[in-house]
Amino acid sequence: MRSIDELSKEELRAELAAAQQRLVELTEQVARNDDKLRRSQKRELRLLQAEDLDALLKVLVGGLRASYQLEYVSVVICDPDYDIRHLLMANGTPVEGFPNLLMVESLTGLAPQYIALYKPWLGSFAACDHSMICPGASGVKSIAMIPLTHRGKLIGSINLCSNDPDRFTRQHASDFLAHLGIIASFCVENSVNRARLLRSGFTDVLTGWHNRRYLGVRLVEELARARRDQSGLGCLMLDVDHFKRINDTWGHAAGDAVLRELAHRIESQVRASDVAARFGGEEFIVLLPNTEVSSAKLLAERIRKAISESPITLPCKDTVTVTASIGISEVRPKSGDTDLKTVGDSLIARADVALYAAKSAGRDRVVIEGA
Ligand code: GH3
Ligand code: MG
Ligand code: MG
Repeated sequence: MRSIDELSKEELRAELAAAQQRLVELTEQVARNDDKLRRSQKRELRLLQAEDLDALLKVLVGGLRASYQLEYVSVVICDPDYDIRHLLMANGTPVEGFPNLLMVESLTGLAPQYIALYKPWLGSFAACDHSMICPGASGVKSIAMIPLTHRGKLIGSINLCSNDPDRFTRQHASDFLAHLGIIASFCVENSVNRARLLRSGFTDVLTGWHNRRYLGVRLVEELARARRDQSGLGCLMLDVDHFKRINDTWGHAAGDAVLRELAHRIESQVRASDVAARFGGEEFIVLLPNTEVSSAKLLAERIRKAISESPITLPCKDTVTVTASIGISEVRPKSGDTDLKTVGDSLIARADVALYAAKSAGRDRVVIEGA
C-alpha cells in the first residue's frame, strides 16, 4: 500500500503534467492567433496602401482571394448615382475590367442577408440566396459576407467563398473579418473621395473635358504602356483657325459656346481608349494609344470634317462655320527610354511643329510631323 505522501506526490506529478500540457496548448493557441493577427494585419495594410481606387478594387477582389486561398471572392458595391463607375471610367479602368466586382443600383433583393448585415454573416452557400452576389461561382459550399458601410449605412459586401463547407460556419468567430470590413469600408470611402478630388483638379470647367494637368499624367502612363507593349502612341494637336475673330465679332460668351461645341464634335469621333484633353485656350490634344500614323491621319481628317462640315449656332442664333488645323506626331518608346516626361514633351512639341506647318500652309488641314 502507498503512503499518503506518495499518493499526493503522484497526484502532484499528474497535475503538473496536465498543467504543462495545458501550457503547451495555450502557447500553440497564442502562436496560432499571433499568426492569424499578423496575416490579418498584412491584408489590411495592403488595402490601406492601395494607391488609388483601381488598385484598391483589385486588392479587394483578387488580393483577398489569393491571400485567403479561396476559390471565389466577389465584391458588391451600391453605386446608385454611377459615381464610382464614372470615376473608374475617367481613370481609364471601366468597371467591366474588374472580374467579380458588382456595381449595383440597389442591394434590395440581391441576397436576404442584406436586410440586416451588421456584422459578417458566415454560413452555407445557397445558390438561391447567393448566386446574384456571386455570379459565375461554382462548387462553392460556404460563404462569409462581410459588410461594407459608408457613414453607418450598408453599401455592399465582400463575399469570401470556399468549396469547403466547414470553412465559414455560424460557429466561427468573425472578429477578424469584421475588422477587415471596417478597414475595407474606410479604404473604399477614402479612395473614392481621393479620385473625386483628383478628377476635379483634372477637369476643364468650360468643356467638362480633361485639362492639361490630366493630360500630363496620362501621357506618361500611356508612354509607359506603349514602351511595355512595344507599340506606338499617336498625338493630335488641334488649334481652331482664326478663333480670335469669333471673340472679336460676337464676344467671349459666343467664343465659349463654340469651344464647347467643338469639344463635343471632337469627342464624337474619338474612341473610349483615346485620351482627349483641352490643352489651352482653343487648343485640344488627343492621344491615340496603339495607333499608326496612317490611322491617326484618318482620325484627324474625320475630326477636321466634323468641325467644319456644319455651321455652329451661337447663343445669339447667328451661325458660324469654324475650321481647325491639326498636327500629328508619333512615338515608339524604347525599353531604354527612362525619362518618359521628356519623351512626352518632345511628342507634343513635334505635334506643335506639324500644327504650325498646317497653319502656314493655309489652315483647315492635317499635317504629319516630318512628312
Ligand atoms: P490661328 O488660326 O493662327 O490659330 O488664329 P487664332 O485667332 O485662333 O489664334 P490665337 O492663338 O492668336 O488666338 C486664340 C484666341 O483664343 C486668343 C484668346 O483670346 C482666345 N481664347 C483662349 N481661351 C479662350 C476661352 O476660354 N474662351 C474664349 N472665348 N476665348 C478664348
Ligand atoms: Mg492657339
Ligand atoms: Mg487658333
